[in-house]
Amino acid sequence: MTARVLVVDDLEPNVKLLEAKLRAEYFDVIGAYSGKEAIEKAVAEQPDIILLDVMMPGMDGIEACRLIKNAPETMHIPVVMVTALDQQADRVAGLEAGADDFLTKPVEDLALFARVRSLSRLKMMTDELRARYATGQGLGVVDNIKLDESESESRIFIIDDNEEQTDRLKTSLGEGYEIASESDSEVALGRVRSGDFDLIIVNLSIENMDPLRLCSSIRSFEETRLTPILAVVRQGDTRKLVRALDIGVNDYLTRPVGRSELMARVSTQLRHKLYVDQLRSSFQASLEMAVTDQLTGLYNRRYLASHLSAMFDRSTWTERPLSTMILDIDHFKQINDTYGHDAGDVVLKEFADCIGKSVRGIDLACRYGGEEFLVAMPDTDLAFAGIIAERLRQEIAAKKFMINGGRDTVEVTVSIGISSTENGPDGDTAQKLIKRADEALYEAKTTGRNRVIQSAA
Ligand code: GH3
Ligand code: MG
Ligand code: MG
Repeated sequence: MTARVLVVDDLEPNVKLLEAKLRAEYFDVIGAYSGKEAIEKAVAEQPDIILLDVMMPGMDGIEACRLIKNAPETMHIPVVMVTALDQQADRVAGLEAGADDFLTKPVEDLALFARVRSLSRLKMMTDELRARYATGQGLGVVDNIKLDESESESRIFIIDDNEEQTDRLKTSLGEGYEIASESDSEVALGRVRSGDFDLIIVNLSIENMDPLRLCSSIRSFEETRLTPILAVVRQGDTRKLVRALDIGVNDYLTRPVGRSELMARVSTQLRHKLYVDQLRSSFQASLEMAVTDQLTGLYNRRYLASHLSAMFDRSTWTERPLSTMILDIDHFKQINDTYGHDAGDVVLKEFADCIGKSVRGIDLACRYGGEEFLVAMPDTDLAFAGIIAERLRQEIAAKKFMINGGRDTVEVTVSIGISSTENGPDGDTAQKLIKRADEALYEAKTTGRNRVIQSAA
């Protein structure tokens, strides 16, 4: 995996050094020598990652990070702050400015590659989600996702066969997390899949199972594919660590594990996970919005267009009938004219609720037009569709629709046309099915309204 890395440092030798290291690992590198230049290059070059020195004359790294993270064109680019050894205050300020991770100077090769790989992997995933999210909403830009870290306690799972070490980790992590642990690797694998953990910490020195196999299993399960893994390694266990990072371990800690390093690494991984989770759920929400009719909460016509043909194909394969009914409210214009458009909306909403209540989970109910609705019913023949339609017609005719906050009621009737695949000739299509229901509806309207007409075979 390769990535474009923007390296920012006011001292040219520092830029050149990082550049040489990254180039040797086939990363593309761009250099910048001030905060201002960093921002310009971030906008113009759209790197995958920015390595940003904290101490720079003029605009320092923290300020540059804040500006990068606040600009819509660059806020999705991960920023790694490069701080002097153990500058706790810089780390905190960096995180507050929106930094995604940090490295300490002098920069160790493995740490550098681990952070760069982990973040470019994360960016690839979030880029994909962003693209889908933007398409789903039909918008060109995505809002900055506000991280709500207070939501719930993060769940951490520690896999380690050394109990003493597990206890030390638990003590260091303190009260802020919900922590579970397991010493048996096989048992741990089972618990990992069902545990819904936000972070997994694995000791790479465990002996009762190959820890690398353990990590790769966690990566391969659907449930834990995206769960961050933090490895704990013995000093000097470089080969194992390199393999672990290749497998997809997100980050690592070297034993003895210092408390501030532990807290920093854990919170960075948890923040990344929260970000991806929220991006996913807002994508889900925007997808739902794109296929839902805002007034009635039923599916919209766009969804029908994509889904009905799948229902139709399924009915062909399974040789089970598929029926559709189109419902059109009678003289709806008069309701608008008499009571106003808002009252009309309320009637539409109540009408849609009636439909929603009388269909099954497998049926597809959608708003087909202004006061027209369509229901597709798999595994339903024309006779049964006729019974459902007639029951719905009677229910609507008998119902008092509340308007003006319940002060007035109106009566409404509906005309319904139904059609079914079983009556269709060979070469039937979803479009023809709808057309037949539409023709039946037209007949219901012209022969007096408030009735159900079945499409002729
Ligand atoms: P018919 O019995 O022939 O179906 O008569 P109709 O009045 O129901 O049919 P027509 O197609 O003439 O009028 C439909 C009306 O529905 C016109 C339009 O203003 C109204 N309408 C469409 N969408 C909405 C909506 O979202 N809210 C409200 N309040 N009215 C709507
Ligand atoms: Mg109508
Ligand atoms: Mg109409």
